[in-house]
Amino acid sequence: MRYNTMRSLDISNGENIGVALFVQGCHFHCEDCFNKETWDFSGGKEWDNIATGKFLNLVDRPYIKRISILGGEPFADIDNCVNVFCLVYTLKTRFPCKKIWLYTGYTWEEIFDAITKTENEEKQMFNKCRKQAVTMCDVIVDGRYKKDLSDLSYPYAGSINQRVIDVEKSLNSGKVVLWGK
Ligand code: SF4
Repeated sequence: MRYNTMRSLDISNGENIGVALFVQGCHFHCEDCFNKETWDFSGGKEWDNIATGKFLNLVDRPYIKRISILGGEPFADIDNCVNVFCLVYTLKTRFPCKKIWLYTGYTWEEIFDAITKTENEEKQMFNKCRKQAVTMCDVIVDGRYKKDLSDLSYPYAGSINQRVIDVEKSLNSGKVVLWGK
C-alpha cells in the first residue's frame, strides 16, 4: 500500500480531535473529487514499517479520540484492502477506546452483498477483507461523491448520498443506522 498524507491533528473527518490517514490510490474517479492527487496508485509514499510506526505514535496521544482512514480508496482491491484491514485490526487491538472512522467509495450494501455475488476466489477474499474491516470500525462514511448532490453544509461528507453510518447499531439491527440517530 501507499499513502498520500498523515494528518497529525484532524478536526474535519469525524467527531472530536483525531488523526487522519489518506491512503493512495482510487479507482472510482468521481467527478470533481476533492482529492484527485490520491488517485494514482503509484503516487504518494510507501506504507512501510516506518510509516506505520509513525502513524501509531500519532494515534498514541491521550487527546486523540478518533482515527480516520480515507483516501484515495482504503478498500481498493489489490493495493489497499488487505493493508487497511491489518491497520484497522492493529488500531482496534492497541487503542480500543479510540473511535475508528473509515471513508469508502463503496456503499454499505456493496460491501455486505458483494460477498455472495462472486465465485472468483480472489474477489471473495477482498470482499471478506472489506467486510471484516468494517465490523472493526465505529463509523463508515459510504458511497462515491456525486457532484450534483454536493452540499458543503452536510456534516462529515461531501454529497448527500453519502451516509455517516453507525457500524455497531447497523450490524445489530441488520439495516443501515445513521450515526447520531
Ligand atoms: S471515492 Fe473518494 S477519493 Fe475516490 S474519486 Fe470518489 S471522492 Fe475521490
